[in-house]
Amino acid sequence: MVQDSKRSRPNILVTGTPGTGKTTTSTALAESTQLRHINIGELVREKNLHDGWDDELECHVINEDLVCDELEDIMEQGGNIVDYHGCDFFPERWFDRVVVLQTENSVLYDRLTKRGYTGAKLTNNIECEIFQVLLEEAKESYPEDIVLALKSDTIEDITRNIATLTDWVRNWQPRS
Ligand code: ADP
Ligand code: MN
Repeated sequence: MVQDSKRSRPNILVTGTPGTGKTTTSTALAESTQLRHINIGELVREKNLHDGWDDELECHVINEDLVCDELEDIMEQGGNIVDYHGCDFFPERWFDRVVVLQTENSVLYDRLTKRGYTGAKLTNNIECEIFQVLLEEAKESYPEDIVLALKSDTIEDITRNIATLTDWVRNWQPRS
């Protein structure tokens, strides 16, 4: 791994199946650490970093190259929390920690139906969680020792995860 020693604050990737609590966790963590929260979905919409709409999956077809170009400078500075339900297309050197949130199936099912997900979109996401797709993707894309799987079933889990990650950020030191 190429360690970028230029950044004085760490970059964290928060990933996981939709509904596992990435945005909730990232928002709270940004507040407690003063790191910058980057919600990739929002960025893609705001800056049109996509190649149109996927009717079947009901989401934008993200243009991964445009997203990476857009973020390169800011990631080099450090101090970012990146929030996205995918992780294999970001440069490995960007991140000091990759957090994979995981939620029990029945809990996730309720969250996604509340969000209005039905049919294939609902089933795909539940299967994504059952087969631990994001954890596997993270382990394949980043050094195993920076990947951290965290349970996100309850509010107590969020509180504990924020405390753990805030401690980690406070203790983080750039490698020389
Ligand atoms: P994501 O960004 O991963 O799609 P969100 O942060 O938007 O997920 O969370 C989806 C919904 O589930 C929100 O209504 C949020 O309040 C709720 N939620 C997320 N994580 C938890 C948790 N650990 N405990 C209770 N509710 C949660
Ligand atoms: Mn989100």
